[in-house]
Amino acid sequence: MDPEPDRPPGRLAEDLRRVLGERTAAALAKLGLRTVEDLVRHYPRRYAEPGRLTDLASLLPGEHVTVMAQVRQATVRDMRSRGGAMLAAVVTDGTRELSLTFFAKRRGALRPHEDRLRPGRVGLFTGTVGEYRGSLQLTHPDYQLIGDGADEEAAALAAASRPIPVYPASAAVPTWRIQRAVRTVLDPLTEDDVPDPIPPDVRSRHGLPGLLAALRLVHDPASEKEAYRAQHRLRFEEAFVLQSALARRRAEAAAVPGTARLGSPGARRSLLADFDRRLPFALTDGQREVGEQIATDLAATSPMQRLLQGEVGSGKTVVALRAMLQVVDSGGQAALLAPTEVLATQHLRTLRALLGTLAEEGMLGGEEHATRVVLLTGSQPAAARKEALLDAASGRAGIVVGTHALLGEHVQFADLGLVVVDEQHRFGVEQRDALRTRGDRSPHLLVMTATPIPRTVAMTVFGDLEVSTLTEVPSGRAGVVTHVVPADNPVWTARTWQRVREEVDAGRRAYVVCARIDDSGDQDGSEMVPVDEDEPASTDGSAPARPPLRAVLEVAAELEGLPALAGVAIGVLHGRLGAREKDEVMARFASGATPVLVATTVIEVGVDVPEASVMVVLDAERFGLSQLHQLRGRVGRGSHPGLCLLVSRAAEGTPSATRVQTLAATSDGFALATVDLELRREGDVLGASQSGRSSSLRLLRVVRDAELLATAREDARALVAADPGLGSWPALHAAIEAWLDPRREEFLERA
Ligand code: ADP
Ligand code: MG
Repeated sequence: MDPEPDRPPGRLAEDLRRVLGERTAAALAKLGLRTVEDLVRHYPRRYAEPGRLTDLASLLPGEHVTVMAQVRQATVRDMRSRGGAMLAAVVTDGTRELSLTFFAKRRGALRPHEDRLRPGRVGLFTGTVGEYRGSLQLTHPDYQLIGDGADEEAAALAAASRPIPVYPASAAVPTWRIQRAVRTVLDPLTEDDVPDPIPPDVRSRHGLPGLLAALRLVHDPASEKEAYRAQHRLRFEEAFVLQSALARRRAEAAAVPGTARLGSPGARRSLLADFDRRLPFALTDGQREVGEQIATDLAATSPMQRLLQGEVGSGKTVVALRAMLQVVDSGGQAALLAPTEVLATQHLRTLRALLGTLAEEGMLGGEEHATRVVLLTGSQPAAARKEALLDAASGRAGIVVGTHALLGEHVQFADLGLVVVDEQHRFGVEQRDALRTRGDRSPHLLVMTATPIPRTVAMTVFGDLEVSTLTEVPSGRAGVVTHVVPADNPVWTARTWQRVREEVDAGRRAYVVCARIDDSGDQDGSEMVPVDEDEPASTDGSAPARPPLRAVLEVAAELEGLPALAGVAIGVLHGRLGAREKDEVMARFASGATPVLVATTVIEVGVDVPEASVMVVLDAERFGLSQLHQLRGRVGRGSHPGLCLLVSRAAEGTPSATRVQTLAATSDGFALATVDLELRREGDVLGASQSGRSSSLRLLRVVRDAELLATAREDARALVAADPGLGSWPALHAAIEAWLDPRREEFLERA
């Protein structure tokens, strides 16, 4: 039985049990390493220089560490109280000390340690840092002596002058056991066993070593310089494989012909022209410019593949609608996909309102050339769904608005010319593909996102799309003022609810956002910052105590009892409500029947109620910057200035406090996205988990490696253009296949 049929054949695919034996393989399996390839791709985290001791000041209790230190003393004594014996050693970095303790029933059992841990000897010590009477210690550490008196002669010789690879820390397997295992599997490999995904001319252009050489260098460098050279090459490989995969997607999609949708310029009956004429506002320069780009794309026979990113409230919907009208004017249909039913329903309402009689096909008062805009969602009543399906299949509906359900196989279009995907960060690449490969002709594709994506991330994750950007927000928009409200200040919190009251009395609406629905722990889409960010874990290793997050149901009940809000109707909205209920709640909020809405972050994306003027976010310090910015974008959309109150329990000076203050001080989403990336831990950027194995990106970091990514992209595009099937590059082809493994798609979806 081969559980992983997509692995390359040959030596790399060999099971470690066969190569290293059951015992070692079982230990490595705990790190998720099962094949020779897994092991050789398990790169050292850093390198220890034999002469350079680890700075012991940086150790934190609870951490699993590997340190290089020198033995200062070691003494064995009997323990009168407990019986048995104890060896206490002290190691040092020259300044600070760390204790090592070993316990045994009998003194004799400690003899081997005593013999080896002679004063003056240097070794690598690995274990979990504990605290005992105010000083740090490792209990029963694993260790390996190097240099004089080393555990193995060969190791002694080699280690004397070479950097020592230190592998990701793990209690299961000490780093030197990994090192030994890597050597064992790496030594007999030849170039033929390790096909290189980077073609030779790309390699020589950038002076990169071949794959086998790089693996040898990264695991066993003669100098740190060599290690860096190897890391650079392996990082480039990651960027190159990723960019080749994206370039191939582009090429594949472009190879399926699309249909030119010229619209009906100059014709007597043009929905687009009529729409433009009736638009109650002037398009912004950005909207006009991007609109022209899109119009040109649509008029071409190769399908458009464009990402439209625009600041919250920059008016992407109108841009999308104009594109859809050009397609409808050309006799085709357009589909608009939203990530949630709330948003789909809202889009339906918005489009119908914007189009007016132009959307009233077949209705009394509808224009002669009007079209029909229909909704298609998963939870729709059967009759409505059936009608919408018919309208889509017959071509009667020019515009179909829906959720993921639109991607279902049973949905037929008479002539689908354009797919607009709103809020792309909730959609995966796979879904993008599902749409593109519908039938023998590809529809044009417009992807929209309000999550500002720094250029490098856009290039990494959306490298298969052309990017347009709307930076400008329509003038006349009053904007949002943001304040941080300390949760423990009763005067401020009282003022918060009073402000809500004032807005309601003035005929406006307020959102109150909580991270949870109730105390079930369901966070309903909130992307909370890890608990341990601010405070180091307490000494016993447990997480610091934090007050629980505020919950929608609890807060709604509380507000109902608040004198400041007496007589104000309060609605609740969260992910556990049915689609119809959500709809009703949103409609009541929009109409002002319930002017205060307590909600989870289900309202984060795209909800547009122009009368909403205040947003109160509870536990604001626990939300990510981008999410807060999205949330804030829900207010100040009309002519009334928006007010965003971030209620925070963050202590002054903590990263959380910095985050909310940054948000209060900055309204530029792109600037915030960059700060967000810097504040987050490296791995989080791509949504890749820290486990290492779940992501193909081991060394590459999108922010740091922006230039490398750009270079790799050029090389990849040139290569794919010359050989779209990659027939001449089987190793690259195989690497891409492994990369596009469905188990890894998740990574592309969450950035
Ligand atoms: P987003 O880009 O966040 O999706 P929307 O498309 O929802 O933004 O637009 C936000 C609001 O701005 C809507 O009410 C829309 O009608 C309005 N709007 C769009 N373009 C303009 C414009 N050029 N001038 C004034 N208001 C506009
Ligand atoms: Mg929108």
